Amino acid sequence: MRRVRGEILISQFRIPVQRPQRGVIIAGSQMSSRQPMTARETSVPGRSGSVGGFRFCPLCATELTLRADGARMRLSCPSCGFVHYHNPVPAAGGIICRGPSVCLVRRAVDPRRGCWSLPAGFVEYDETPAQCASREIAEETGLQVSIEEPLGVYAGLDDPRSRAILIVYWAREVGQSTPVAGDDADQMGFFPPHEVPAQIAFRAHRQALDDAFRHPRFGASGVA
Ligand SMILES: [Zn+2]
Repeated sequence: MRRVRGEILISQFRIPVQRPQRGVIIAGSQMSSRQPMTARETSVPGRSGSVGGFRFCPLCATELTLRADGARMRLSCPSCGFVHYHNPVPAAGGIICRGPSVCLVRRAVDPRRGCWSLPAGFVEYDETPAQCASREIAEETGLQVSIEEPLGVYAGLDDPRSRAILIVYWAREVGQSTPVAGDDADQMGFFPPHEVPAQIAFRAHRQALDDAFRHPRFGASGVA
């Protein structure tokens, strides 16, 4: 094993060196190149590593090892063959306009408690992204909406819980629903572009807002 410019070379495979954090050992720092590393030996933190932070197989509870899968190293189970694909988590949310103002909610929970965001959340296993956006909007704002075309898809790189893929839709209010903050939100409101709070919780939401404000649909008749 040798270090090559911010990487550790194990056999022919490169693993990015991770910044040491509280009690975290740099991946593979004391391992032989001849044996697969166990998940515990790599001590890979899930939030910043590329392989995930699990130690044991979720199917058979055997300790996971790092194995090559094409050009990637992945945590794998030597007993049952389970492979942990460490992927971003999909999330969905909506742009709801009233005139030239957009709906934002204030986060009542960590991370980024007290900061503002679009109404959005993680996609459940049994729902589509559009269903997720509709559900999250109803939970966090009390508004019933029709989900329309996507505004954009954004990489969520600064959520400490997980990397995410955020899908943002245009959403139009339907019926007579009463705006009320709920679930993960303790306040909600409609803001014109120049009055949007400075503290936006996540960069992907900030990017989506900027895209929405520049979009010809923003504030157009029929959307608001
Ligand atoms: Zn297993």
